[in-house]
Amino acid sequence: MKNNSNGLKLIEKLKEKSASYKVVDLYKRKIVVAWPDKLVENVIDDDVELKVRVSKPWQLASNEWKKDKTIVNVDGIEIGGRNIVVAAGPCAIEDEDIAIEIAKAVKKAGAKMFRGGAYKPRTSPYTFQGLGENGLKILRKVYEVVGLPIVTEVMDTRDVEKVASFAHMLQIGARNSQNFPLLREVGKAKKPVLLKRGMSMTTEEWLLAAEYILLESNGDVVLCERGIRTFEKNTRFTLDLAGLAYVKTVTHLPLAVDPSHPAGRRDLVEPLALAAIAAGADMLIVEVHIAPEKALSDSEQQLTISMFEELMKKLKMVAEALGRSI
Ligand code: PEP
Ligand code: MN
Repeated sequence: MKNNSNGLKLIEKLKEKSASYKVVDLYKRKIVVAWPDKLVENVIDDDVELKVRVSKPWQLASNEWKKDKTIVNVDGIEIGGRNIVVAAGPCAIEDEDIAIEIAKAVKKAGAKMFRGGAYKPRTSPYTFQGLGENGLKILRKVYEVVGLPIVTEVMDTRDVEKVASFAHMLQIGARNSQNFPLLREVGKAKKPVLLKRGMSMTTEEWLLAAEYILLESNGDVVLCERGIRTFEKNTRFTLDLAGLAYVKTVTHLPLAVDPSHPAGRRDLVEPLALAAIAAGADMLIVEVHIAPEKALSDSEQQLTISMFEELMKKLKMVAEALGRSI
């Protein structure tokens, strides 16, 4: 809509046609999304600054109307610009001292954000489930002591407000990325969201999941490829960099890659991380632990500190070769 318009005249016309619509505030613009196409095709209003018929099922995530790349600001860290952001930390928060030690080490090596799960989506209910609220308190302490902004997973709509009060970025895990009530709720939380791709989601379904968050007027969404299920058994998941490259051509949202979970073992993390930034990822989220063999979850795939330091050096070289920085 034009700057001074509240869209009321347009909404009146949409109502006459019994079209569905939603008014959203995104990227400092007032946008009326209306559907289905056939009902809204001929609705014309002077207060409309730009009318776009998006050809793809995803609308607000599409770069057909928003040509500039979105930059998501997480506590001063910009994701989606020239600089590639690396978030690093343990799979799960296990202990305050361990978390702080890992955070200090990854910061020194060049990480700009700290990752770590307080609520863990574990395949088996008999394995470590995370520290819950105590884990969030440790994450807060890590931020106070080390100063890296926090990204952590929220699994339950009932926890969104609480997690949002401790974290700078809310992670939606692969197992929850089509939990539509949860997506709406993190949209409402108005915190940046890291939206993992589900392990059996198509790129279209992934973008449509983002749409649920955007429709709540939360434009701070980073899409994260973390591997999909295929027939391949020697790696944990198949990192779909083709999917990443495709999504980059159709959206204005920044793209992240998690090289740890598809690798499933630490020696494969580096090649996947390097390939991810070569393919255009704006962010990496990497599992790192001071003593991976003792970790309570994903112990096989977490990098040691020295492996992470080595990785950062190589990532910097690839980034620079591509005219980017880390
Ligand atoms: C994680 O990053 O801790 C995690 C559980 O990842 P995913 O949801 O991609 O499996
Ligand atoms: Mn993990």
